[in-house]
Amino acid sequence: MKHILIVEDELKLARLQVDYLHNSGFDTNCLSNGLEVLPWLKANPTDLILLDLMLPGRDGLDICREIRSFSAVPIIIITARIEEIDRLLGLELGADDYICKPFSPREMVARVKAVLRRQQAQTTIPILTSALMLNPHNFRVLAEGQEVELTTVEFQLLQALYQQPGRIFSRSKLMDLIYQDHRIVSDRTIDSHIKKLRKKLTDLLPGQELIHSVYGAGYRYDPQDKVVD
Ligand code: CA
Repeated sequence: MKHILIVEDELKLARLQVDYLHNSGFDTNCLSNGLEVLPWLKANPTDLILLDLMLPGRDGLDICREIRSFSAVPIIIITARIEEIDRLLGLELGADDYICKPFSPREMVARVKAVLRRQQAQTTIPILTSALMLNPHNFRVLAEGQEVELTTVEFQLLQALYQQPGRIFSRSKLMDLIYQDHRIVSDRTIDSHIKKLRKKLTDLLPGQELIHSVYGAGYRYDPQDKVVD
């Protein structure tokens, strides 16, 4: 469950925020004094902050700046004046979004979800070790969650290589695996299928080469060696 910190000194508004966020499956905590925010953040895991600007104790702008000096936690700034948003953008506070009062609580929940989704996407891509998922039962291939549209031959080639990472397959070995009816096809046929397959993969995984050509020998699949050769 995601923990949202609500910093708001209008108690009626804070309660409304709590209600809507709870109904959407979030856990919440509320603070009403600006001085409480930093100590609270340092002691409690927080996934997102809804930060009102005009607060007793300490100004929201100050709080935002200080949070950014030690944390990348998503911050949505809540301001009472729409014309202030331009000025806030100019200050480059590092906030993830801005909401103007009065706001619909539904809209607030939608913004919270959008910011969390964006942050999730940014943090999950670099830690994926295997970018490719191949399912031999339904012939589907996913590259970082996106479907790769492959022909049957491309799928078979990828499957052969993928199942034995690091092994070099000669063109004739690949032909045997794919054309089990011993059809006579040229080396070029394999090359052209591999070329199309690689293009489809790099379109979805830019900068990563999973299938490597080994000069004079054939091809190998290597998810560890992602450098484009
Ligand atoms: Ca206020």
